[in-house]
Amino acid sequence: MQELFSRHDVDVWRRHTAVGRVGLVPTMGSLHTGHMRLVEAARADCDTVIASIFVNPLQFGPEEDYDNYPHDYAGDYDQLKAAGVDAVFAPSVEAMYPRGLAAATFVEVPELTDILCGVHRPGHFRGVVSVVARLFNQIRPNAAFFGEKDFQQLAVIRRMADDLAMDIDVRGVAIEREADGVARSSRNAYLTGDQRERALALNRALNEAAVCIADGDRDFAAIERRGHARMTEAGFDVDYFEVRTAELDPPSVNKSNFRVLAAGWLGAARLIDNVAAPGTPVSAC
Ligand code: AMP
Repeated sequence: MQELFSRHDVDVWRRHTAVGRVGLVPTMGSLHTGHMRLVEAARADCDTVIASIFVNPLQFGPEEDYDNYPHDYAGDYDQLKAAGVDAVFAPSVEAMYPRGLAAATFVEVPELTDILCGVHRPGHFRGVVSVVARLFNQIRPNAAFFGEKDFQQLAVIRRMADDLAMDIDVRGVAIEREADGVARSSRNAYLTGDQRERALALNRALNEAAVCIADGDRDFAAIERRGHARMTEAGFDVDYFEVRTAELDPPSVNKSNFRVLAAGWLGAARLIDNVAAPGTPVSAC
């Protein structure tokens, strides 16, 4: 597996390799089987797979966990190699932002970033979109793979690629869960044993809401209140519990394809999760 640490390395690699259709899997490292699902999807669709590992300072708020975010380059390298990844791109902050963070150019996606996680993490999506744009321009993939675990992030990146006419297929990959239903996340490492038990309530509350919607319940406000309460009872400091459409529009009775999304804090860990809640339109009014 080729190791690339700069834009120059990527250029040389691309020049000397018959890459064919290139799939990119962007990550922040500290890899788990959720990331590996993205790699599998990329391998199934592309001739060459490149994974990036970059903990992007510009997507963390001042009070967030940038300084403590877990790093394990050696472990990540082994997992990617074993999964058949062709190249890993692991730039330093200096390589990614050669003019310094204060001078960084940003890309903004309005509206979609003003809801859900965007309300609670100001500037987060601006940082994500801008680093993904840099990765896209440096690596020039034909397809890029993102997890549905970060459902809003996937929607925001699709919007950026579409609005800026980037010729890249942005693919979503289903959430990989632990045996009890908790979504795999690098941040689960922050949980104590007791918090890990309590974390179950997030997925349970989402599933409960999805069942109500599938059964025809369209009192979205009451569904959201119940989900919020379930999480609070389990000890979460809840950021949001919301029903949206799959496009992240507000729900209404004449819409279908709902998604229930939630985020909250358990101790030092901010956990997010979402589930699909298909449902058909109740009326055509
Ligand atoms: P991260 O390293 O947490 O920034 O995640 C990198 C990519 O992996 C993102 O597209 C995430 O949505 C995706 N990802 C993280 N955890 C999971 C999971 N449990 N299932 C599916 N995709 C995931």
